[in-house]
Amino acid sequence: MKIVDAKVVVTSPGRNFVTLQVTTDDGVTGLGDATLNGRELAVVSYLRDHVAPLLIGRDPHRIEDAWQYLYRGAYWRRGPVTMAAIAAVDVALWDIKAKVAGLPLYQLLGGASRDRIRAYGHANGSSLPEIFDSVRALQERGYQAIRIQSGVPGLKSVYGVHTTTSVDGSAPDVLARPVVEDWDTAAYLRYIPRVFEAVRNEFGPDLPLLHDAHHRLSPIEAARLGKDLEPYDLFWLEDCTPAEDQEALRLVRQHTTTPLAIGEVFNTVFDYQTLIDDRLIDYVRSAVTHFGGVSPMKKLFDYAGQRGIKSAIHGPEDISPVGMAAALHLDLAVHNFGIQEYSGHTDLTNEVFRHAYTFDDGYLHPGEAPGIGVELDDELAAAHPYEPGYLPVNRLQDGSVHDW
Ligand SMILES: [Mg+2]
Repeated sequence: MKIVDAKVVVTSPGRNFVTLQVTTDDGVTGLGDATLNGRELAVVSYLRDHVAPLLIGRDPHRIEDAWQYLYRGAYWRRGPVTMAAIAAVDVALWDIKAKVAGLPLYQLLGGASRDRIRAYGHANGSSLPEIFDSVRALQERGYQAIRIQSGVPGLKSVYGVHTTTSVDGSAPDVLARPVVEDWDTAAYLRYIPRVFEAVRNEFGPDLPLLHDAHHRLSPIEAARLGKDLEPYDLFWLEDCTPAEDQEALRLVRQHTTTPLAIGEVFNTVFDYQTLIDDRLIDYVRSAVTHFGGVSPMKKLFDYAGQRGIKSAIHGPEDISPVGMAAALHLDLAVHNFGIQEYSGHTDLTNEVFRHAYTFDDGYLHPGEAPGIGVELDDELAAAHPYEPGYLPVNRLQDGSVHDW
């Protein structure tokens, strides 16, 4: 068996997705997600110009060899563009191997360790009544674990809370420049514990609650927030400090028993080394799409599991159904599963990427279709071409740039 084609498909059924489609000489196709939100075309070029030509003629069954060839062979290792491209190849080859075997991918990863996969959804609001309504809407959809993001009084636009205008007056759908949000750490630290007190009072002690600080706090600020949130029994506090500073979480850990999660911007196991070896976190949060694929994610989870650390794969809307499907096969198979982020996709996106995975009563399952269980509708994808777009940026009250 040989690879005869490696095509990069860019489509925007409401948001941009980049997909690698690998085809073998006997007509088997495999899909891999290569979507890097806000920097999509850099990965397209990396794949089209540098990776796809290397795949032609290769044996698709030699997945580990292909991974090492692309990772070590490029000399320039790591980074989100490189690792998203390698991830797309890795997942596409696993898709092919599982299709040839006639099995859903999770069966090749050791088989199911559980019957279903608990998901958490995103609730948000600029006021407490809005947040309560958002939580209730998620509960009606079946969610049994919920991330809470709140507006902060005095701030116009905050991460995770939908708004109609940004600080500089531009509409969020203006794509020529990033939307500008604003930030005040002191106001945030004063307000967020009151939000969780109110949510606990409204919804009781049993609902698992999560919160994402989106890398905006210094170590001592994050330590204080973790302590202040302890009475409200969070499932986790996510990305409390800038992720590239592994030592930052040592100080946070020394001050709070609030569980910590991090890793959605990590690309290799080396980003986690201190965090895992010294047990500074409770959940590893990487995306299959940005971490080099299923192969290194399985190794990461096995490594983390030796320290009692659990999986929590990154799964916002900008992970395509292809990336989500790959995540769900891992979730079902690994023993140290923690939870899966899942927002779902629009109906149009689900038509472009028809998938076997299901969401029911707060739980996901990858389905029993051979491979990862996703089929790409090429014609529908082509009818929705790429649209330029950026992630927002963030400025403090004095105008200086802050972490977004
Ligand atoms: Mg996050």
